[in-house]
Amino acid sequence: MPVSTACTPPSPFRRPSRRASRLRLGLLAAMLFGASTFAVAQGAARVADSAQARTAKALETARQQGPLALHAFFIAMPKGGDLHMHLSGAVYAESMLAQAGADGLCVDSASLSLAKPAADASADGAHCADGQLPAAKLTADQHLYDAMVDSMSMRGFVPTPGRTGHDQFFDTFGRFGALSTAKHAGEWLAELTDRAAAQNEQYLEIMHTPPHARAVALAKELGWNGDFAAMREQLLAHGLKDEIAADRRSLDDALAERNRLQHCGTAQATPGCAVQVHFLYQILRGNAPERVFAQTLLGFEAASADPRWVGMNFVMAEDGYLSMRDYTLQMHMLDYLHRQYPKVRLSLHAGELAPGLVPPEGLRFHIRQAVELGHAERIGHGVDAMYENNPGQLLDEMAARRVMVEINLTSNDVILGVKGANHPLPFYLRHGVPVALSTDDEGVSRIDLTHEYVRAAQDFGLDYATLKQMARNSLAYSFLPGEALWNAAGKLAPACAGQSPGAAKPSAACGDFLAGSEKAAAQWEQERRFRVFEAAH
Ligand SMILES: [Zn+2]
Repeated sequence: MPVSTACTPPSPFRRPSRRASRLRLGLLAAMLFGASTFAVAQGAARVADSAQARTAKALETARQQGPLALHAFFIAMPKGGDLHMHLSGAVYAESMLAQAGADGLCVDSASLSLAKPAADASADGAHCADGQLPAAKLTADQHLYDAMVDSMSMRGFVPTPGRTGHDQFFDTFGRFGALSTAKHAGEWLAELTDRAAAQNEQYLEIMHTPPHARAVALAKELGWNGDFAAMREQLLAHGLKDEIAADRRSLDDALAERNRLQHCGTAQATPGCAVQVHFLYQILRGNAPERVFAQTLLGFEAASADPRWVGMNFVMAEDGYLSMRDYTLQMHMLDYLHRQYPKVRLSLHAGELAPGLVPPEGLRFHIRQAVELGHAERIGHGVDAMYENNPGQLLDEMAARRVMVEINLTSNDVILGVKGANHPLPFYLRHGVPVALSTDDEGVSRIDLTHEYVRAAQDFGLDYATLKQMARNSLAYSFLPGEALWNAAGKLAPACAGQSPGAAKPSAACGDFLAGSEKAAAQWEQERRFRVFEAAH
């Protein structure tokens, strides 16, 4: 079983002893032939059903009591995975300011941004340019510290004429851009996984942009002629693949540092060690075509060479000039490259748009093209779905193809101003499109995944069964390798047929199956957690 990190929790699915196997065989025979054992199995199912019913009732009671009770309910709910989170956007500003201080960075008090030290840097702290101060001294000025946290996040932001939540949100990335991702990725992974563990999450699929300077340089050198096959050949001939080693090292270093900080594999391991991590290779879509093509090709090559990249995604503001102008061209690039690398999986930001943000014509085709041309197995946001051409047919098609939508409620509210009755989530549910909740940029938005569950329950009145299905979707539609525990029709994998998902001791055949599939093992573990969670209600 390919293992993404040295921190992966010990698998509960070890091959059982011969004696245990004999016992289980006996049980199976009794189940097949003994009426009394059959009655016991039925009784267990009834207990599970009543635990789920009690839990559903507890959610309704919490709903009556308001958001604080909902938070207390949801924080312990087994949420599976977060499939849509960006590494740097998930880190809280307070962490970044501390790291900036340790790195000797400066704070520009006029633009409220982090800045690299001036060229004549000195060790005495007087190395920052005029109008700047050492980030290490920021804690002595609470007013400026507060202003920096606000500037690097959505905290306290109030739109003013000419300055929207969209502007503030995307500007934050530039304000902490002086901080080295390469240097801090391990610390950031530790922060994210510890936070995830505290909310009963098991898995993070994190978007991250690894080094791609060589791809950019080659793109500039070769220019753009629109011939995908020729471009690919030239880029590969000029050594594009050389950068894969650097990309691999960036993950090695980040994961090793995460393990060190969290003491993974030792008695002092933090809970975050149990949270499994895989990565999605981020392509920056707001660039010239040659650069987007070169980076996309590098992403396909990297994901083919290193199983820790379980897929790819296109990022940056979808409403940006180049993102809009080249949208269809970029989907054609994916169509071409997907044929060369059919095993690399794709989730695409699509339809992160709203009326007025772009002309009406821009709202009509992005999600459809991402699915039909871009080979997206998952859609990030999908907010403008009801403005697409023939939206009912599109939603039915997504349901039929089992294309999952990553729903980011707070992000959609603060960036696009879309919430409540203007959000398409109920339409996705009505058409049977699979959905799961995710955070997008929990540090910038100052939220966590629990917050998004509270919001979904409050704003859309979703019941326990629906939210539980969404939590299950977050693993079923993850890009975790291996066969799923259930097929599309909800039938258990043949090796586990007749078993009770989440049981402590699966049959030998089922245990072998789980040991060979990261996805099924994660799903089994989530069912175990559901048993614990529901038994407590
Ligand atoms: Zn996103």
